[in-house]
Amino acid sequence: MENILKQLPQKAKETATENKKFFAKLKKRPPKHLDSLMQELHEAEFKRTDCLTCANCCKTTGPLFTDKDIERISKHFRMKPQQFIETYLRVDEENDYVLQNVPCTFLGADNYCSIYDVRPKACREFPHTDRKKFQQISNLTMKNVAICPAAFNIVEEMKRRLP
Ligand code: SF4
Ligand code: SF4
Repeated sequence: MENILKQLPQKAKETATENKKFFAKLKKRPPKHLDSLMQELHEAEFKRTDCLTCANCCKTTGPLFTDKDIERISKHFRMKPQQFIETYLRVDEENDYVLQNVPCTFLGADNYCSIYDVRPKACREFPHTDRKKFQQISNLTMKNVAICPAAFNIVEEMKRRLP
């Protein structure tokens, strides 16, 4: 996994132009079976990929925290939401709450998430490859393929399946 992660940014760079074209075409005319195809590709990829050997998302980018996330996680720590915000979060350029630091404070040395059951929605959904209307998040996906080896493989498989 270490080697895969090392090579990933370069591989993402090399496929960027092709991906941009592919997603532009997909956005214009999304196939009817796109949702079911994404479900299939996502499940197949995550049977092969063990996130516990990776955790690159938790190490390199943080999630954004919604108000509901903050409420749930601060309750878990028996903290007041404001206290949780002041301890762990900051407001980013888009006015969202994000982590003060990466790797994520809640990531253990064994790659386990210490707040797994109450983790932010964005963490639960990353890399969003099983969401409906996948063509709508192509800009985000093009960024994610440089971080997430599973997302990279899924996009490569999409290109094979939807030439
Ligand atoms: S979601 Fe992607 S980046 Fe995150 S741990 Fe799993 S494979 Fe790695
Ligand atoms: S909250 Fe958990 S899943 Fe989310 S980035 Fe931190 S360690 Fe990873």
